[in-house]
Amino acid sequence: MPYATTNPATGKTEKVFPTHTPAEVDALLDRAVTAFSSYKETTYADRARHLTTAAELLEAEVPDVARILTTEMGKTFAAAKAEVSKCAVALRWFAAHGAELLADEEIATSAKRSYVHYQPIGAVLAVMPWNFPMWQVIRFAAPALMVGNVGLLKHASNVPQTALAIEDLFRRAGLPEGVFTTLFVESKDVAALIDDPRIAAVTITGSEGAGMSVAEAAGHALKKSVLELGGSDPFVVLPSADLDACVRTAVTARVQNNGQSCIAAKRFIVVDAVHDEFLERFGEAMAALVVGDPFDPATDVGPIVTESQRDELRSQVEEAVRQGATAHTGAAVPEGDGWYFAPTVLSGVTTDMQAAQVEIFGPVAMVLRVPDVETAIATANATTFGLGSSVWSNDEAEIARCIEGIEAGAVFVNAMVASTPEMPFGGIKRSGYGRELSELGIKEFTNAKTVWIA
Ligand code: NAP
Repeated sequence: MPYATTNPATGKTEKVFPTHTPAEVDALLDRAVTAFSSYKETTYADRARHLTTAAELLEAEVPDVARILTTEMGKTFAAAKAEVSKCAVALRWFAAHGAELLADEEIATSAKRSYVHYQPIGAVLAVMPWNFPMWQVIRFAAPALMVGNVGLLKHASNVPQTALAIEDLFRRAGLPEGVFTTLFVESKDVAALIDDPRIAAVTITGSEGAGMSVAEAAGHALKKSVLELGGSDPFVVLPSADLDACVRTAVTARVQNNGQSCIAAKRFIVVDAVHDEFLERFGEAMAALVVGDPFDPATDVGPIVTESQRDELRSQVEEAVRQGATAHTGAAVPEGDGWYFAPTVLSGVTTDMQAAQVEIFGPVAMVLRVPDVETAIATANATTFGLGSSVWSNDEAEIARCIEGIEAGAVFVNAMVASTPEMPFGGIKRSGYGRELSELGIKEFTNAKTVWIA
């Protein structure tokens, strides 16, 4: 696919960018390797200064940068501004804590002194998605640059201006040429890049299919990889839940980012005793959402990223209804320009339906009725994914049971799933492997060197 900005709110292609030629890619890889040879010698204090400057620049430019995000992928302007601000927070957090997280770890052994020493490994390739086009990149780049690695970004082909803005941000923050580079390469050429000896490791945030290709290429080249893939997160509602907070959060958890978030709640698993009340209130709240121009402050839900993704959403909903689900609200494509889809609630969904087995990427909520907490946990786990999960209860024993029993990279109790720099983020099963953010994330692309002094 060519790199192009196509506005999902209008369907119009606004700008097209040529892909880099093989010779240009070659030169950019050489430049990254050269940059690494001196960047790895810089101090944590130097790197922290650059990341802090990048944060300051972003904070001063939130609306300008957010405008690019909204134009390229359709999230509401408010959501785009929040994303940009969150990036600044992460840059500051890794600048403040990187040195401490990467400090030598003394370990008591029979040696005179023994410790683990963390070192950078080189140029890390990041294959990134369009849905949080700045956050996903900063989530990779802030820790990677703090470690002393250099970054190569292969961004999604529909967010080229965001990719260039991030490269420009790091340049203006004073990082030397080659420390962070945007490559305009096609996804079919990613495997060859991973195989290139100048690339040390690869991280991908994206769909299962892309993750499989990247993992295969990394395995072939025997290179470290981190995979952050899709999800079909459960949102479990138990009888003792505070339904007011639960319904309010359920709506946000499903329609955040126009419903296109890996950690959006997708399957609402509700115990019999509260099912009908939850369904009625949730359906009303979803029906009341304002769908429209993402730049209009009154809008809750903007367009779907592409026409083909919008059409796929429609056919997934139609198939669920054909298989026996009931559509309470939405399930329709509004008239007019842009790739909109009305927020939809499907009830009567069962685990064997296709919709419950795939990742539904849009403002479509599936409600599954279960008799008790044990069935709720089994239903939550009846998926090939294992990214996040949310549990609503005020019963300590039930909460403990869910934390232990749900197969996912995260359990949020009485809250929606979210990410924050202090806590690890990642999945299990077909949602991927490895972790981003926190101490675990910053250490993924390091050489944890064992030092033994006899
Ligand atoms: P995608 O189609 O998989 O694309 C992600 C990136 O991978 C893009 O840069 C894409 O490039 C590239 N790509 C696609 N096919 C590839 C291949 N065969 N080999 C190498 N690279 C390939 O995903 P998306 O539609 O952009 O993003 C949505 C997906 O990302 C959802 O599944 C969502 O759940 C997941 N996601 C996961 C997380 C997480 O943290 N776990 C966070 C956000 C999103 P092109 O654009 O050029 O095709």
